[in-house]
Amino acid sequence: IVIPLYNEEENVTILHENLKKVLNALDTDYEIIYVDDGSIDRTLNILEDIQRSDKEVIVISLRRNFGQTAAFAAGFDLSKGDIVITMDGDLQNDPMDIPRLIDAIKDYDIVSGWRKKRKDPFFTRRLPSIIANWLISKVTGVKLHDYGCSLKAYRREVIKNLKLYGEMHRFIPAVASWYGVKVGEIETTPHPRLRGKSK
Ligand code: UDP
Ligand code: MG
Repeated sequence: IVIPLYNEEENVTILHENLKKVLNALDTDYEIIYVDDGSIDRTLNILEDIQRSDKEVIVISLRRNFGQTAAFAAGFDLSKGDIVITMDGDLQNDPMDIPRLIDAIKDYDIVSGWRKKRKDPFFTRRLPSIIANWLISKVTGVKLHDYGCSLKAYRREVIKNLKLYGEMHRFIPAVASWYGVKVGEIETTPHPRLRGKSK
């Protein structure tokens, strides 16, 4: 599991607890890679405390704030799993969706989350997102309802050859599908952001 975090001090502890409940119930080995993307609050301190008491946790600390794409790339570089799952660190994605992602990826190379009942403000977040999803689907020929959902599962072969830069993480399914990768979509359970700020 790869999770980028930028100033999420109020969310980290709950996130880790929620994740452990779901992951420990899985019938498989796992590792959690938390990527601190140059936070200027206590996020990194809390992550380091978690790492000290949990051998399944790896913490990567980026020197400054590089953005989500770079944070995912750093996490991918250190990841070892056959399946790599990405999600947000602000509790807007639900770890309870992870078992369904793992199940769905048996038939695909990438499975992307679809926040069908998204809990974000309409004019500033949902409307731009509807337009963006329509446009990206049109231009790339890869139809997804929700390019912006971080909750995704990838087979290792897919991420191994990716060169990520800029704000490219959203376009991985489109780019990968041009190389013959099979992309699927499942509905996930979105939550509103309760603590911290959207970046
Ligand atoms: N994030 C990050 N670096 C950034 C911006 C965001 O690591 O420069 C993380 C953030 O902490 C969160 C995830 O990426 O875990 C999604 O960010 P955010 O919630 O701000 O995006 P939104 O849900 O509002 O689209
Ligand atoms: Mg968010």
